[in-house]
Amino acid sequence: MKRRLISSVVTFVMSWSSVAVYGQAGEGAQFLDGIGETALIARYLFTGNSEDWSRNGYHATLHGEATYVDDEQFGRVLSLPGGRDGGYVQIPGRALANMESLTVTGWLNVKDLTPWQRFYDLGLGNDRYLYCTPVGQERADGCRVRMTAAGYGAEKGPATFRVATGQWVHLATVLDTTMKTLSLYVDGVRVGRSAGVDWTITDILDQENASANRVYIGKSLYDGDADFGGRVYDVRFYGIALSDRQIAVIRRNALSGEDTTVAETATPVPDEPETPIEETPSLYGARLAAVPDIAAETVVGHLPHLPITLPAVYADGAVGPPVRVLWPAPTDTSQVQQPGTYTVTGTVPGTAFAPKAVVTVQPASPGQPRPEQRLEPFPLGQVLLNRDDQGRDTPFIKNRDKFILTLATTDPNAFLYNFRDAFGEPQPDGVRPLRGWDSQTTRLRGHASGHYLTAIAQAYAGTTYDEDLHATFAQKMNYMIDVLHDLSQKSGRPATEGGPCNADPTQVPPGPGKDDYDSDLSRDGIRTDYWNWGEGFISGYPPDQFIMLEKGATYGGRNNQIWAPYYTLHKILAGLLDCYEVGGNPKALEIAKGMGMWVFRRLSVVPTETRIKMWNRYIAGEYGGMNEAMARLHRTTGDSRFLKCAQLFDNIDFFFGNAEHEHGLACNVDTLRGKHANQHIPQITGALETYKGTQDPAYYQVANNFWGICTHGYMYSIGGVAGAKNPNNAECFTAQPNTLFTNGFSEGGQNETCATYNLLKLSRQLFLFDQDAKFMDYYEQALYNHILASVDEDNPGNTYHVPLNPGARKRFGNARMDGFTCCNGTALESSTKLQDSIYFRSTDNKTLYINLYIPSTLTWSQRNIELQQSTRFPYADTTKLTIAGSGTFDIRVRVPRWATKGFTVKINGRDQEVDAVPGTYLTLRRSWQDGDTIELKMPFGFHLGPVMDQPSIASIFYGPVLLAAEEPEPRTTWRQVTLNADDLSQSITGNPHTLRFRTDGVNLKPFFETYSRHSVYLDVTLE
Ligand SMILES: [Zn+2]
Repeated sequence: MKRRLISSVVTFVMSWSSVAVYGQAGEGAQFLDGIGETALIARYLFTGNSEDWSRNGYHATLHGEATYVDDEQFGRVLSLPGGRDGGYVQIPGRALANMESLTVTGWLNVKDLTPWQRFYDLGLGNDRYLYCTPVGQERADGCRVRMTAAGYGAEKGPATFRVATGQWVHLATVLDTTMKTLSLYVDGVRVGRSAGVDWTITDILDQENASANRVYIGKSLYDGDADFGGRVYDVRFYGIALSDRQIAVIRRNALSGEDTTVAETATPVPDEPETPIEETPSLYGARLAAVPDIAAETVVGHLPHLPITLPAVYADGAVGPPVRVLWPAPTDTSQVQQPGTYTVTGTVPGTAFAPKAVVTVQPASPGQPRPEQRLEPFPLGQVLLNRDDQGRDTPFIKNRDKFILTLATTDPNAFLYNFRDAFGEPQPDGVRPLRGWDSQTTRLRGHASGHYLTAIAQAYAGTTYDEDLHATFAQKMNYMIDVLHDLSQKSGRPATEGGPCNADPTQVPPGPGKDDYDSDLSRDGIRTDYWNWGEGFISGYPPDQFIMLEKGATYGGRNNQIWAPYYTLHKILAGLLDCYEVGGNPKALEIAKGMGMWVFRRLSVVPTETRIKMWNRYIAGEYGGMNEAMARLHRTTGDSRFLKCAQLFDNIDFFFGNAEHEHGLACNVDTLRGKHANQHIPQITGALETYKGTQDPAYYQVANNFWGICTHGYMYSIGGVAGAKNPNNAECFTAQPNTLFTNGFSEGGQNETCATYNLLKLSRQLFLFDQDAKFMDYYEQALYNHILASVDEDNPGNTYHVPLNPGARKRFGNARMDGFTCCNGTALESSTKLQDSIYFRSTDNKTLYINLYIPSTLTWSQRNIELQQSTRFPYADTTKLTIAGSGTFDIRVRVPRWATKGFTVKINGRDQEVDAVPGTYLTLRRSWQDGDTIELKMPFGFHLGPVMDQPSIASIFYGPVLLAAEEPEPRTTWRQVTLNADDLSQSITGNPHTLRFRTDGVNLKPFFETYSRHSVYLDVTLE
């Protein structure tokens, strides 16, 4: 049985493929030939330009005599003359710098038999390279792909007959670092494969100095070779090893001439049977004696909240952990339409147990309860991170400083570049624009500037410990806001006195000399007629993308396509509001109000039907947390139009099921299935902010129910989500809940880091309303094991996805803060507010919450109390709180859910009798005196975090800390370990003070200190 399980893993890694899904969208959509877009690093169609049609903006440069010609087969293609110094294509060196596996595909029409002309060549020089040539010296040994990281003599790679000249041929090469193979495909068929290829792309390219990397199409790294002669079309680079079937599908679809992309969140059906689930009882399953039935209650129209685990009965009176139960997840509320009772039956994976829940449906009570916000966070400057009790920098201080010190060196003008460019303003001397998603023609440009505004506002507020830094960030923030304010004041007003203008956001005309709106942001194509844009407009580009979205534009790189205008705007508005609320800059609010009103005026005349379509349009309609920004504007200004505007962003189907509000999240129906994770999570924080304004409990239910569904049914052990192989997109939730093993662990990665940033934000917000410890237990889990773990060792480089497949590796980017993805953006925010959830106070200042055990000093100014927390946690299991000041109030300390080995309290050195229940808060009530101390001890233990639908695949935790196995090389299978069933600690040796352990022949260390190859999930056998 075990063997079958392992081989099934290999099967899906190796040969997973999806059917092609046909749609009407253009390039850059979610699925291209059935492959999720996160796998696509760059794509060059060469139908008239050398732009990268992926969203990454790795535009190529043509050199020499490269021209575009008409072609019978593909319309218009690139033509290269061949010969010495003929002509070639150069791709930015950073595009592939931190890849491991790599697939390259493309169409070539070779002119003649000049030997060694390259399809592509990439590397650092003559001893480190990967190349493919269609024509070698000899006929039978001509077409080849070769790789080495150790000089010519060590080269490896297969070869086959040289390709025919004068006709189109589809070539593909696949470097699979997991299988250590290098394969060659001609016309969709694998014609050769070499084994034992130990190198990855990181071995032949430079990650630090990407400009040293040479990546060519049509040119050799070796100067003696001739350039490619012939035609080139649709060259793609994928960051994963594609399967035989996927290569064949790419070729077949190109020949069929059909558009093979889909923009909507369609769910491709896997063309293989679902991965078989282990049927033998695994982990604790073999020892179970019984799993009890339960009773549950709900009200009409609302699906019940059933417990994620049940206390199990173990054989022979043994003690074991609660057992995970998977309950059916209905797609509507038909079961709860009438008062009465019904029974649902759950499953315990890997066992025959089928616990029942008898659900009583109560009549809906008139007037749902309205949860109240009872807690407030402290301002960032009132909580200072400290060194640990041995004077060492903590992981929190280290990550804070990596970001703060690099941020302090950034030039605000780089983050203003696109805004000045949009308004036709000159750039100050020497300013270098950002690259990546903020480059000149990228239709998301400006998004990083929004994150930057938030980050410098937080950095300003949080650096009360350092006068110079504090002043630096004040200056940067105020400068940014001054420039943005000046620009925003120009919108909709005459450029010169008495000149023409349009103040009305709904009457923006197409750009000068244009018949229609377009998203052309090129230097020559961008419109800069700001006087026509309507009052208050501010963004990194002109208003066209907003208007095009209303008119049905889809996501893509053409001038009639767009990339999420409201997503960009949300970052900018959130940044402005943070500069106001966190940074105290009043001008920032003025800018936000102006743009908020621009949005309100436009959207309030858009029909509901159109809005529903807009917000459901993949990526194009992604709006971040626009509803949150608008509800914040309402909260700060009291202007009810902003609250109305927030509701115009209701994602009605997602929130409420349909226009009649018949199911959806508000009724606890799971509408997450297959959806893009981080497109939707900020909408949920927005729903909660909308609740604060409207007091409509449905919005609260949307947020609260989402949190439960998401963290129960879709979460990996580090606290992240997404990473689906069905639908095949690393950024999507799995197609069904509770199926991470079956439908998750996509090859393209899991755990998009910005999604976890948003889940943390949602968790703390919910906790302010509902002081259930589960929210802060999750917060601790994801803060330590994903957010802390997402930053590079000695610089602020950070992760996009955090892959958890066997033997995976984190990839860090943007160490220099000059080219941002979404996750690079939220990383700036996360690491400038690491202290924001350690403590909360009740709004009446009668209770102090200690949520996290992190060395820090709190200033509770309302009560004139200073509280010092000193600890080495998590390198020790104790913490000490010292109170300066006095008063009678409650201190509530979190008893973590993992603290099952006890939780003891000493006050002023004396043991207290407490009833500490894991997963709750413990209240310490007293008249506190100056100098009082509280010592908490919570012994760590080892426990397992299994995948819900395959419990034998599990992570090992020590207290709150997820331990990763160090892997010397890539793996095709889960690492197997055998542990003592009665007491895991019998099988694990090591040092709890350094958190370095060893079990079954492998080293374990905290995932947040792991920078090399790792296994976070292991195949665990209990004995
Ligand atoms: Zn992201």
